[in-house]
Amino acid sequence: AARAEGPTRYRFHTDAMAQAIRERVDLEALLRHGIERNQFALQYQPRVDLASGTVIGVEALVRWRHPVLGLVPPARFIPLAEETGLIDDLDMWVLDEACARAATWRAQGLPPLRVSVNLSARQFQQAGLAQRVQAALERSSLPPACLEIEITESTVMRDTGEATSVLRSLKALGVALSIDDFGTGYSSLSYLKRFPIDVLKIDRSFVSDVTADPNDAAIACAIIALAHTLNLEAVAEGVETAEQAAFLRENGCDEIQGYYFSPPVWPEQIERMFAEKTANGAMVN
Ligand code: C2E
Ligand code: MG
Ligand code: MG
Ligand code: MG
Repeated sequence: AARAEGPTRYRFHTDAMAQAIRERVDLEALLRHGIERNQFALQYQPRVDLASGTVIGVEALVRWRHPVLGLVPPARFIPLAEETGLIDDLDMWVLDEACARAATWRAQGLPPLRVSVNLSARQFQQAGLAQRVQAALERSSLPPACLEIEITESTVMRDTGEATSVLRSLKALGVALSIDDFGTGYSSLSYLKRFPIDVLKIDRSFVSDVTADPNDAAIACAIIALAHTLNLEAVAEGVETAEQAAFLRENGCDEIQGYYFSPPVWPEQIERMFAEKTANGAMVN
């Protein structure tokens, strides 16, 4: 039996690898096709100001609407899009679409909302990024202050010298800048001080147990204190419960984002949310 097992296992192994390679190639082809066919759409997740209890911004989150695969979450295709360079087109489409949507909302008379957009590490390292962001702002006529660009902590910390100059060129446009997934990327605090940023987004991993785990609570409070010391806003990601929201409010966090208030939703639902708000007054509390 042991003898028969060897070659079988080996064959299984290569079959699995061959399949993995085939799937990867297929996924790449599907992704390329999807970009050509405009199969992508943006959902928006509200960001709630804890002092006023109102929605003051939304984060644009990309979804792939594949005719057979259904709604594919970004974790399934962003890494491949980065590897293959397809992210360049995708992130620029996201930027254009989010700016256009925010401009439409302004024109429709919705309360002022800042729209935030995620940029991949690859985009961040690309020459001419600020010009491309400026072009998107011009195409939509969105005031720069209504756009926020999110870059992950690990991306900005990869090459801090280069990151500083890219952040400065973006800041010069008048857009807001935030560091996403903060607390996971080993920040050098001396660089953080030099970055022209506006917001630290506390990573969900510290928020999910913030009311139960004293270490997570201490980290969340330390990030809030750090943000305020540096004159930045602290935004907590992944807030799912009233207890977490209360803890964060009591400890001075500026904004929350998460399922507790709303999951990411389609643009029509954002519009409906504001229509209801006008009828009912404040949104939380
Ligand atoms: P992120 O920027 O940190 O976005 C937050 C993620 O947490 C989103 O996942 C959101 O749906 C999810 N989330 C929000 N509230 C909660 C909550 O209360 N509980 C839990 N468990 N999750 C929550 P999503 O939409 O799957 O996006 C995942 C990541 O993909 C994003 O993380 C971002 O890094 C990336 N991504 C999304 N859209 C884009 C894009 O247009 N371009 C690039 N380059 N990356 C993107
Ligand atoms: Mg983000
Ligand atoms: Mg994040
Ligand atoms: Mg996160």
